[in-house]
Amino acid sequence: MITFKNVSKQYDDGTTAVKQINLEIHEGEFFVLIGPSGCGKTTTLKMINRLHEVTDGDLYIKDKRVVDHNIHHLRWNIGYVLQQIALFPHMTIAENIAVVPEMKGWKKQKIKARVDELLTLVGLDPKQYRNRKPSELSGGQQQRIGVARALAADPPIILMDEPFSALDPLSREQLQQDILALKEKIKKTFVFVTHDISEAMTLGDRICLMKDGGIVQVGTPEEFIQQPKNEFVQSFIGNQGSMLVETLERFVKESDQSELSEAGVQLKSSATVMEAMNLLQEHDAVAVYKGSKQIGVVTRKNLLAFLSAKTKEGGTL
Ligand code: ADP
Ligand code: MG
Repeated sequence: MITFKNVSKQYDDGTTAVKQINLEIHEGEFFVLIGPSGCGKTTTLKMINRLHEVTDGDLYIKDKRVVDHNIHHLRWNIGYVLQQIALFPHMTIAENIAVVPEMKGWKKQKIKARVDELLTLVGLDPKQYRNRKPSELSGGQQQRIGVARALAADPPIILMDEPFSALDPLSREQLQQDILALKEKIKKTFVFVTHDISEAMTLGDRICLMKDGGIVQVGTPEEFIQQPKNEFVQSFIGNQGSMLVETLERFVKESDQSELSEAGVQLKSSATVMEAMNLLQEHDAVAVYKGSKQIGVVTRKNLLAFLSAKTKEGGTL
């Protein structure tokens, strides 16, 4: 779907932000770019929708070089959510969401229906919010409008650049849950930038760890834990690895079990958190059994909360 072939980016001042990267992002996957500040994540993302031009090598979307795509069509077909989204202050929420559908010439009725559908999808009541101005929304709510706007014209690719990092912890958690739900509801190709390893582990189908403009390792969360390529990867993962080899018995004790949901698959309480995490690639929930009794459930939601809490406790990041 998105292919980087020996792609480099040198800025006008001579900074080489991305060095000869090769990367294949598959259709429908949730792909996470992670790494220390300044390693080239944002630059990599912005080359996909040509907010920055590649200076060497080739970048393809669906076998066509991005430079050969019509730039307007390219932007319309790629949703983009950034750290602090800028809504148009004089326009209503509905108008802000409708920007791309308007440009695409959708009929009024279709746009209205789509706006309401999206507001509902990001957890805001259309009746209450569609006619408000951005200044009448909290930071977290504005960020959700940013997500709705990015999804408006149903683009096959969504780019997200640290969409939660400017939020207070509560809004942040809320939005993480929204994205988890979205990921399950809509099948799109997501490229998601974060510097939060717990977020990467729970959201990502695959993770790409970058350093100094290059790629250090690409793989599934499991591959990162089981085959970290070097010490840098190891230190970046921190104590996530030890949490994931814990038994589900301990997970059930220490995680949020207030929403006991139905689950199509089950594991024994002696299995590991990692085994459950792998099943979550295909299933919404995993039931945990001790003998013949269900003692709990693993979902992406309680897994994310568990890993985040453990990361904070460990203080490795
Ligand atoms: P990240 O998103 O991982 O923090 P960036 O892609 O923003 O990293 O930046 C990578 C490198 O490129 C950094 O050294 C940064 O200072 C530099 N850089 C980013 N944008 C520009 C720019 N417009 N001009 C010059 N250098 C830039
Ligand atoms: Mg960045």
